[in-house]
Amino acid sequence: MNIVVCVKRVPDTAAEKKLDPSDHTLDRESGESILNPVDEYGVEEALRLREAHGGEVTVLTMGPAGAEKNAVRKALALGADRGVLVKDDGLAGSDALATAYVLALALAQMEFGLVILGSESTDARTSLVPQALAQLLGLPGITYVSKVEVDGSKVTVHREQEGGHWVIESELPAVISVVKGINEPRYATLKGIMSAKQKPLEVLSGEDAGLDPAEVGLSGSKTRILAAEARPPKQKGKLVKDEGHGHVELADFLQQNKFI
Ligand SMILES: Cc1cc2nc3c(=O)[nH]c(=O)nc-3n(C[C@H](O)[C@H](O)[C@H](O)COP(=O)(O)OP(=O)(O)OC[C@H]3O[C@@H](n4cnc5c(N)ncnc54)[C@H](O)[C@@H]3O)c2cc1C
Repeated sequence: MNIVVCVKRVPDTAAEKKLDPSDHTLDRESGESILNPVDEYGVEEALRLREAHGGEVTVLTMGPAGAEKNAVRKALALGADRGVLVKDDGLAGSDALATAYVLALALAQMEFGLVILGSESTDARTSLVPQALAQLLGLPGITYVSKVEVDGSKVTVHREQEGGHWVIESELPAVISVVKGINEPRYATLKGIMSAKQKPLEVLSGEDAGLDPAEVGLSGSKTRILAAEARPPKQKGKLVKDEGHGHVELADFLQQNKFI
């Protein structure tokens, strides 16, 4: 069974994130960027399913040139077989729905049994892309998956729920999003990093993907950022010197701030 893993390039979690004052989009070029952390679990799950059932693992991303190195090549170094990057200047500023639209067009050109995404990105955290993609592909979509089993043309998953999990079965092909902790991602070996450079990486332009420019980018996206304000600097905390009544002062503070 062939599997496609959608991976996103995001700013390094520790890096300071800056918005471009002209259009409020995230400045993705000034800082370090990485493979979206939960997508490493998606890649790992695909590799495990390939080890169990055979087939090919493709990583797919929509992003600027930098996404090749920090997202696709990283996933190829972990063991994926080939990469696809949809890269086009017209995609800049695309919202979650526009992103799902582009990924759906690229997937329409591929043969797959399962599409794996992460439960959320660390920059926007909308968690919208997985379900939007399933909808656009007209396939079953199951999010927040913590266990996957494939048996012939069926997939059975555990879906995280407050206080437990649901066991859900679906026909393949299907779209799932996985949560952190579904597995223990492997580390890229030196051999893996070296071989990643040789592995096939197809770069699709907007035209190659067959997209309508009016559906993507800042102008084509359904959501608009009207304004953006920097988060106010953190307030200095209150230091309580305990001279026997610290517990009372603490309780008062918690009550005044409606923590209790
Ligand atoms: C600070 C900030 C706030 C934003 N707020 C919104 C908003 O409220 N609404 C909105 O529509 N857009 C928003 N965006 C834009 C949004 O980040 C992008 O559209 C993004 O490509 C998809 O949304 P996401 O990162 O939230 O993905 P999520 O749905 O959180 O990502 C889940 C999974 O989808 C896959 N995925 C996501 N993006 C890609 C990609 N480019 N290529 C391949 N796979 C991918 C990955 O597997 C990822 O783990 C925001 C962007 C920023 C930086």
